[in-house]
Amino acid sequence: MSKIIIPFFLLLFFSLQIQCSSPKESSPQAISASIWPIASLLKDIVGDKIPVHCILPEGSSPHTFEPTFEQIAKMRNIRLHFKIGKGLDDWIDKLVNQSKNKPEVITLAEGFPLIKTTFGCDHDHDHHHHDHGIEDPHIWLDPEIVLTKIIPTISIALEKRFPKWKEYFQENREKLEKEIEEADKKVAELLRPLKKRKIVTIHSAFIYFARRYNLEMVAVLEPWPDKELTARYLQRIIKIMKTHSCNVIFEELQSKRGPKFLERDEGFKLSSPPLDPMGGPQNSAKSKYSHLLLYNAQIFRKFLE
Ligand SMILES: [Zn+2]
Repeated sequence: MSKIIIPFFLLLFFSLQIQCSSPKESSPQAISASIWPIASLLKDIVGDKIPVHCILPEGSSPHTFEPTFEQIAKMRNIRLHFKIGKGLDDWIDKLVNQSKNKPEVITLAEGFPLIKTTFGCDHDHDHHHHDHGIEDPHIWLDPEIVLTKIIPTISIALEKRFPKWKEYFQENREKLEKEIEEADKKVAELLRPLKKRKIVTIHSAFIYFARRYNLEMVAVLEPWPDKELTARYLQRIIKIMKTHSCNVIFEELQSKRGPKFLERDEGFKLSSPPLDPMGGPQNSAKSKYSHLLLYNAQIFRKFLE
């Protein structure tokens, strides 16, 4: 219990410090996103008109992230925040509630059907006594969802709060949409010829990507990023991989590495470089949303060819 109380108390203390040390601030004008891919879309739409912050630090997993002083400081000038929702980035709620400027929060994974997964059920599917399936939050890795759901939601929110730049935003949005449409076509071309289409990943981030490009995610090694794998679950994965003739486990940059014995004893391959569902501002190959799609498509192609 004390593990939870102490950081919360410290966060509160620090936010009070901020409030005391900056008595007269102009109204907050920056916007933010929980994760980099959404921040990248925001940057492309608002250009140089509004500062954009990404709250999750590069290289961190949103599933296991604990906010620190750095994120509290980042929130203090935010007027509008875009979260994914569905359990991916609930830590943002605590930051928003503590923030003096009380940013508005827009949740993106709402208002359309999400993929329900049953990965991680540690039993065979011969009984269905409870409601199966958890809504998967990794919606941004399907560019069609980005084009038809995420960008329209972002645009409406921005135009409402910053009406003086409406036309400028719309011009940028059109450019961005073209770029994403082109990347989508390129990814489809890269992946279309592949004979192997069944994939096994450490984490479920690419489930929407898989659906978009006709890949089939048959197993996920780490369905709960914060829990340890059981030996029984691992045995099931091995069986599924053999049944579907999958020889590669796709690792992800922000997740734990795959267990080495799967390479050593079972003859499976762990993908290196790993997939990256997040990207970030540091590496130009992954700093723009459209580049991030292509980056990951190349990795799938490399290991499924
Ligand atoms: Zn994830």
